[in-house]
Amino acid sequence: MDQFLDKLKNILSSEQIKQREPMSEHTTLRIGGKADYLVLPSNIQEIRQVLLLCKDYDMPYYIIGNGSNLLVSDSGFSGLILKLGSWFSDITIDEDGLVRAQAGVLMSKLANVVAKHEFAGFEFAAGIPGTLGGAVTMNAGAYGGEMKDCIISATVLDKEGEIHTLEKDDLQLGYRSSIIQKEKLCVLEVSMKFASGSKQEIFDKIHELNSLRREKQPLDKFSAGSTFKRPEGYFAGKLISDAGLKGYQIGGAAVSDKHCGFLINKDNASAKDFMKLIGEVIEIVEAKFGVRLETEVKYIGTFNSD
Ligand SMILES: Cc1cc2nc3c(=O)[nH]c(=O)nc-3n(C[C@H](O)[C@H](O)[C@H](O)COP(=O)(O)OP(=O)(O)OC[C@H]3O[C@@H](n4cnc5c(N)ncnc54)[C@H](O)[C@@H]3O)c2cc1C
Repeated sequence: MDQFLDKLKNILSSEQIKQREPMSEHTTLRIGGKADYLVLPSNIQEIRQVLLLCKDYDMPYYIIGNGSNLLVSDSGFSGLILKLGSWFSDITIDEDGLVRAQAGVLMSKLANVVAKHEFAGFEFAAGIPGTLGGAVTMNAGAYGGEMKDCIISATVLDKEGEIHTLEKDDLQLGYRSSIIQKEKLCVLEVSMKFASGSKQEIFDKIHELNSLRREKQPLDKFSAGSTFKRPEGYFAGKLISDAGLKGYQIGGAAVSDKHCGFLINKDNASAKDFMKLIGEVIEIVEAKFGVRLETEVKYIGTFNSD
């Protein structure tokens, strides 16, 4: 372990390495125990070297962006969390209108830059509180748009430290899924193309969608967004509400009474509370309506079944 840390220090500065880092500070749910290491690389070479070091030392690792779709266990993560954030957020636009952005850029910032350049079709993304890397991995979407509609290709790093450019079809973008997590790839950069539009109309659309979110979603509460995927032919929130679970609470975790599809950290919830709540919601909805909900949120660490 000490040797691993020494080698990590040869790659990153001390301010880029955090030890025994509470994951509750890196997730929008504000839940999660400590990760042995959390590192903040600032360039591709550093990411590559860190991943190769993990491989050499058999160190488990997990890549995160803004932590807006994560539930981390109360016991944290035995391994290394690689977080792509603000040090990795350049955006460039070439004369053909190809938008290239690094994986750590926040979707709100990217949507703003895209809108300022009078490109339409990314308005849906402005209110998604994650990074571009997370959005590609999840094929994030909202209000009829999804990442799949605008991606041309993504540059990724594989487990062996090799860089590849994957075209849109290679990314296998499905409903809240892609090849990225299946193959444990790290998204570095994404190329996107948009249609031209009127700046005023694009910003109006962004404001309209953001107000809709504020009206319908519990944005003042800690959450990971929609906890469940949309079951075919149904809406998770409606099923949960119709099952009488609005506001239903276990420990500090609760079904939001503003939008039942959002489970929230209402009052210092533990990951255990949250898991119990997820389990009960799934069971009750299935018993009432015969529809088995599946979670959209990603789990990090170990969860006991008790
Ligand atoms: C209030 C709220 C509203 C939301 N609304 C929406 C919505 O409208 N639509 C929607 O789709 N989602 C929504 N979400 C969920 C979440 O914001 C998205 O899934 C988002 O794309 C996750 O990005 P992130 O950077 O936070 O990723 P994280 O939560 O950090 O990670 C999510 C997944 O992406 C992987 N990942 C992240 N970065 C990389 C990278 N660079 N390379 C490889 N893998 C990576 C992680 O390993 C993990 O599997 C919402 C969440 C909240 C809290």
